[in-house]
Amino acid sequence: MTDHCIFCKIIAREARADIVYHDEQVTAFRDIHPVAPTHILIVPNKHIESVNAVAPEDEPLMGHLFTVAGKLAREEGIHHNGYRLIVNTGADGGQTVFHLHLHLIGGQRMQHPMG
Ligand code: AMP
Repeated sequence: MTDHCIFCKIIAREARADIVYHDEQVTAFRDIHPVAPTHILIVPNKHIESVNAVAPEDEPLMGHLFTVAGKLAREEGIHHNGYRLIVNTGADGGQTVFHLHLHLIGGQRMQHPMG
């Protein structure tokens, strides 16, 4: 738990969010400004600022984010048509909340990210 981190507050239930999944390692909730019909953030309960701060001991946790992403994609019914997983990192990557998170975005056809 880090003071002033909105995602830590959501994980600690000190701030409200539409939580769709949680376990001892991760919490997932709907993005407050969705860019597609499904837009869920999958967040490690442990405060890790960004990919830059991921340590070797975090590898099982990073893998778990993907396991949960696949489970939620199936629950949202977007697994057949596909979806996008994004981890923005740092200023050039467009990161605005400095608690690592995986965006699960789907439910519509998306433009090519490099385009
Ligand atoms: P990023 O730009 O990759 O750091 O993504 C941060 C995301 O967090 C943005 O898509 C925001 O809309 C979302 N966000 C910020 N505050 C909240 C909140 N309190 N509840 C849900 N989503 C949030």
